[in-house]
Amino acid sequence: MTHHDIFDSLTRNAFDFLERGISEFDKAPKYSVIHFCAAVEMLLKARLMREHWSLIVSKPDQANLAKFMAGDLASVTMDEARARIRDIACEDIADDAFNSFRTLANHRNKMIHFFHADVDSDGQAKAQIIAEHCRSWFHLHRLLNRWDPFFRDFRDEIARADRAMKEHSKYLRAKFKALKPELDAARNTGNKPSACNACGFKAAVPDALYDQIALLRCWVCDHTETQVEIECPHCNKHIVIASEGYATCEHCGGAIEPEQVADALTDHDAAHIGIADGDDRWEPANCGACDDYHTVVRRGDIYFCANCFDVSDHVEQCEWCNEPNTGNMEHSYVAGCNHCDGKAARGGRRTAK
Ligand SMILES: [Zn+2]
Ligand SMILES: [Zn+2]
Ligand SMILES: [Zn+2]
Ligand SMILES: [Zn+2]
Repeated sequence: MTHHDIFDSLTRNAFDFLERGISEFDKAPKYSVIHFCAAVEMLLKARLMREHWSLIVSKPDQANLAKFMAGDLASVTMDEARARIRDIACEDIADDAFNSFRTLANHRNKMIHFFHADVDSDGQAKAQIIAEHCRSWFHLHRLLNRWDPFFRDFRDEIARADRAMKEHSKYLRAKFKALKPELDAARNTGNKPSACNACGFKAAVPDALYDQIALLRCWVCDHTETQVEIECPHCNKHIVIASEGYATCEHCGGAIEPEQVADALTDHDAAHIGIADGDDRWEPANCGACDDYHTVVRRGDIYFCANCFDVSDHVEQCEWCNEPNTGNMEHSYVAGCNHCDGKAARGGRRTAK
């Protein structure tokens, strides 16, 4: 068995668990929670495996291939997997994504440790399970797309799971119907609900608005996301972008890159005056959440990353290269920021990456 075979069998198994987690929900909701959560954990491990097999072992320094093959080694927890994906593969799993997986895992642990006799007939408990599945799948699907170079052999499985999830969310219809009066009231006060990208129901209501940037929360499944309204840089029509990274215009099909979103969100006049006055908070900043370069723009009192859609309330300058950044710059004089190596770098030159 080669390393690639192990990756392949782990990933195949993950999709098998995911399918079970979705399909057995109605008859056995408890097992659906357990299987769905196991699938998420396995896919995070599979991603780590593409760096090195020993990374999915809890103590990589004690990793031994023979023992690993025999299934005789403790594997990483979900938190360890996240930390290693960040530290070794340099890919951050955002808080909202990880929190959705964490909620799933806590629920799974509760299901395992405490006998809940009537979960099968408890409509509220079941709606909660589906909502957790919808939110986790939304984030997992996004990660799998981002990790397409590693998971491209599983595109069919990913598409099948996505179709199954769309079908799965119908179990939230009762909750959506029950919320109808409140949703109508929100609409009447100008907070028009839009379709939720996790569960599909028209129940995503703006929580906070910063001009063209809206933070939405779905009242059916509790999914939160950020949407941006801009003019398409190609056809100048009004569009709403709801996902991070690269989007396409619904009118002309043109690709819209984070740089273009940043440009469209920048108040060029205010920035020009601000910078001329020496207010460097108007300079394009680097993102501490996704590490992207100059994608953070100021909108009034908030700082918005046009790549990962992270909203931050402040920027700090790197103490070494002076680039503004939304992350923590506490030790940046020595360690640098995401775009410089700080003083610790050989020669201590002030270089931008
Ligand atoms: Zn929803
Ligand atoms: Zn367009
Ligand atoms: Zn970002
Ligand atoms: Zn720096």
